[in-house]
Amino acid sequence: MKKVIGITASADIFAAGDFPGLRRHVLNMPYGEAVLAAGAVPVILVRTDDVDAMRRQVALVDGILFSGGDDVAPSFFGEEPDAALGKVDRGRDVYEIALMRMAKAEQKPAFGICRGMQVMNVAFGGTLYQDLSRAGMECLQHRQKAAREESSHSITTVQGTWLAKNFDAPMVNSFHHQAVKSVAEGFVVNALSPDGVIEGIENREAPFMIGVQWHPEHRVREDASTMRLFRRFVEQL
Ligand code: MN
Repeated sequence: MKKVIGITASADIFAAGDFPGLRRHVLNMPYGEAVLAAGAVPVILVRTDDVDAMRRQVALVDGILFSGGDDVAPSFFGEEPDAALGKVDRGRDVYEIALMRMAKAEQKPAFGICRGMQVMNVAFGGTLYQDLSRAGMECLQHRQKAAREESSHSITTVQGTWLAKNFDAPMVNSFHHQAVKSVAEGFVVNALSPDGVIEGIENREAPFMIGVQWHPEHRVREDASTMRLFRRFVEQL
């Protein structure tokens, strides 16, 4: 039977339409399409602060994909908001940090994409650069102007990591202005861009958790290695 992957969603308010001002869950369709292409069944996880409901959500899925979105509020890693911080959604942070910790406690693998990887890091005690201008290095263009399905900067995977074994594309796309600063305990860096920005993290023990800073869901058609990354994640569920 096919595995089921729960995918977290953003929330946004739509000014137009039948219910102007209504807050709605939003999820870019490529996440679900990538999961389907990898042979699994995607379901969208609706945000809740009910711990029992959350536990049931975790029980119903074989793995969780934490999708991209707004910045993580810096209070979750012990910092005041920097002037360069972007839009935050504290309700989403609260839900996803709790869900991430529950996934680990309940032995459910997790895949974090962009913000999803940052949430993974923060959930287990890591910190973030609120903006890459604060990283103290000359950074590449990490908010690419190229189309989403195009790769723009190179990465080097770290030998011995799961990512290095399962992903060998030399370049990735890039749509972020925040990045991992200190890596959470129990996690290791699995990819770096040439300027030294952390482009991926993973843990070494079960349940398996992997995070990537780029957006592989936009490149499953363009890049065989990206498709394989999703497949391998599904295979080990
Ligand atoms: Mn990047």
